[in-house]
Amino acid sequence: MKITLASAMGTCFGVQDAIDLALDPQYRDKLTVVGQLVHNPQTVERLEANGVRIIEREEIDTIQTEHVMITAHGAAENTKKDLEGRGYHVLDASCPLVIRLHKLALFLERKGYFPVIVGQRDHVEVKGVVGDLKDCAVIGDESDLHLIDGKPKIGVVSQTTNRLERVNEIIAAIRNLDHVEDLRFIDTICQPVKDRQQAIFDLVHANIDVGVVVGGKNSSNTRKLYDVIRDHGIDAYHIADVDELQADWFKGKSHLGITAGTSTPQDVIEDVYNRINDLAN
Ligand code: SF4
Repeated sequence: MKITLASAMGTCFGVQDAIDLALDPQYRDKLTVVGQLVHNPQTVERLEANGVRIIEREEIDTIQTEHVMITAHGAAENTKKDLEGRGYHVLDASCPLVIRLHKLALFLERKGYFPVIVGQRDHVEVKGVVGDLKDCAVIGDESDLHLIDGKPKIGVVSQTTNRLERVNEIIAAIRNLDHVEDLRFIDTICQPVKDRQQAIFDLVHANIDVGVVVGGKNSSNTRKLYDVIRDHGIDAYHIADVDELQADWFKGKSHLGITAGTSTPQDVIEDVYNRINDLAN
């Protein structure tokens, strides 16, 4: 069986910088991370082994360390101020591309547009952007369009991990609403995500007949890579760990494509590649 690796995959610079900061020896046993730093079980284990405590936003009252980290997914300004007000030293690991998304949503609001974020309303990145705005709507799919009823001037940004084609479909649906007179879209999908999406399209067009996508089960961008392979009618498997691989998946297959989400470390990808080589041969 031929195996092709996607030309772009694995940990992006935003996630890697946040991990490096959390693992800085000066913060050992002194750091609490608010929210999932990465959607990857192996990296979370490594962080916890280094004395990093990871909590949800709702558990802020339980923080006992001097330093508190905002993850690469970012947070609303009032969350940062709340933490500083409680006396913590805040390490802000927000990815520059997430900060750009916050700034552009605020820019649209200042220009008189009603801000619309295309994304998942329960995702930490989207919650952070919403928290900075006076009023806005989060559109996950066409069934949410009623949230912008009566709004004539709409400014659209996107969660950084969305698929551009999907965002364009939602924009087309907004444009078709009778009450919308002015629509402005600023593309805030991040370049590393676009690179990984392009690489997966290149893979499916390279005639793979099975795909393996490596990444946390709760990783939004990993799921989207998996969806692309399935949408092309190709068998695909989403695994978080090398031990999930099954030899049966590759029986009778001639060409396997491997890709990974933006929080999957290189060593996990290499383990998967090596194990598949063993299983297939
Ligand atoms: S996926 Fe993109 S926006 Fe998110 S942390 Fe990585 S580089 Fe930044």
